[in-house]
Amino acid sequence: MVQRVPWLLLAAGLSACSGEPQPSAPQPVTVESYDLVVAGGRVIDPESGLDAVRHVGVRDGAVTTISESPLTGVTTVEAAGLVVAPGFIDLHAHGQDPVSSRFQAMDGVTTALELEIGAFPVDRWYARRGGASRINYGASASHQGARLRALGRAMVRANAEGTFSLGESGDGALYRAADDDELARLGELMESGLREGAIGFGFGLGYTPGASHRELLRMFEVAAAHDAPVFVHLRSSGAFTRGGALAPFQEVIANAAATGVALHIVHLNSTSDPLAEEALAMIRGARERGVDVTTEAYPYTASASLIESPLFDGWVGRPSQAYGTLQWVETGERLTPETFESYRRQGGWVIMHGRSEAINEWIVGQPDVIAASDGIPFSEGRAHPRGAGTFARILGHYVRERGALSLMDALRKMTLLPAQRIEGIVPEMARKGRVQVGSDADLTIFDPERIIDRATYDAPDQYSAGIKHVLVAGTFVVRDGALVDGVEPGRPLRGRHYMER
Ligand SMILES: [Zn+2]
Repeated sequence: MVQRVPWLLLAAGLSACSGEPQPSAPQPVTVESYDLVVAGGRVIDPESGLDAVRHVGVRDGAVTTISESPLTGVTTVEAAGLVVAPGFIDLHAHGQDPVSSRFQAMDGVTTALELEIGAFPVDRWYARRGGASRINYGASASHQGARLRALGRAMVRANAEGTFSLGESGDGALYRAADDDELARLGELMESGLREGAIGFGFGLGYTPGASHRELLRMFEVAAAHDAPVFVHLRSSGAFTRGGALAPFQEVIANAAATGVALHIVHLNSTSDPLAEEALAMIRGARERGVDVTTEAYPYTASASLIESPLFDGWVGRPSQAYGTLQWVETGERLTPETFESYRRQGGWVIMHGRSEAINEWIVGQPDVIAASDGIPFSEGRAHPRGAGTFARILGHYVRERGALSLMDALRKMTLLPAQRIEGIVPEMARKGRVQVGSDADLTIFDPERIIDRATYDAPDQYSAGIKHVLVAGTFVVRDGALVDGVEPGRPLRGRHYMER
């Protein structure tokens, strides 16, 4: 069956089912030819459940036809034997630079968002990105960044875009509680971030030990007042008197229940291990009782962070073999107590090994845990392999080789679920994460028999294999397995409070 939609109606934002065109309206052109036809691929759309061979017609950056019979287009891509999926949406991508975008596109990603740590000031971040990019981009308002502004002077480590910071502020502000005036100022700064286009609020609580329980509750109230979601790297479990991995989950779930905020807990894998089953049961239980809470994970047993950050405050004095679980990103070397100290003074990225692969695979196999990379920037050279291989690794290793989850479930975790998570604040996400008539032509076309990650801890700068074509708004950013240079179809995605007075 051919589903035909007059493109003029689509362009006007009207539904094709809303009736006959107005008599005075220009006649729609005959939809017989398309800018692009993706012919005969296995089209998978997690929302409708479609999983069948179809021909996809693309016009003006959108999918306008999904047909059982062949179509003709200006350009035709043969997709027999390939999967035609919605472009992958990464809610947790710290690599917000042209180099990182290359790795992301080669891993099938068409939208990469910095929602965990976020950006501050938000308008400056979007301005610096320049309005165009290989893939779509966006950021939340950074609680950490706004907190430094409200409480102290900012003297922070930053990436090439000057936005990513986990380090000390130079005057102890990270470790100090805010007073009432500072809390009020902080709330105002976060609200201004929403008006500058932020996609909700981002919290790196493990990096701001001074933020009190009251401060977090207050910030959730501010977000809830604007129907803005919050993305949270949980407080370190050591911050709770009785410790244990569950207390930080309990704090944010209680705050979400009390305020009604939409809560997204980042990297369940690195935060909950080894209590992943209990933590996820708590999230599911809260959701069943009406709390809007979701979570995500990346498919690796090692995490990564900046060695100078408060995350490593508790490391001094550990047994010397403990330092061997740390790998210095720049050289690949394992650390000793001595090199730990010198690198901590110097600052930089470190990988932390040691989580269980059995638990990792269990988490990856859960259909309601969103796939998100937590990729760190490649703009400074080497990085954690997750920024290059997360999506191909799930599809190649965990779906094909391990059978840990179905292809449909895996694709839902990397397309529909992340789109739905932020549709409330970014309404245009309703056109992403799907392959449907009217959806954006952000498409990832891959070989399910060949797709695999190639980035490793020792050689992270390796593109994934098996991603054949990647389209952003109907434009190839990857074609025949290779990056297309000189194209920037990616656009900024902003929250709906943008420019509100
Ligand atoms: Zn994190």
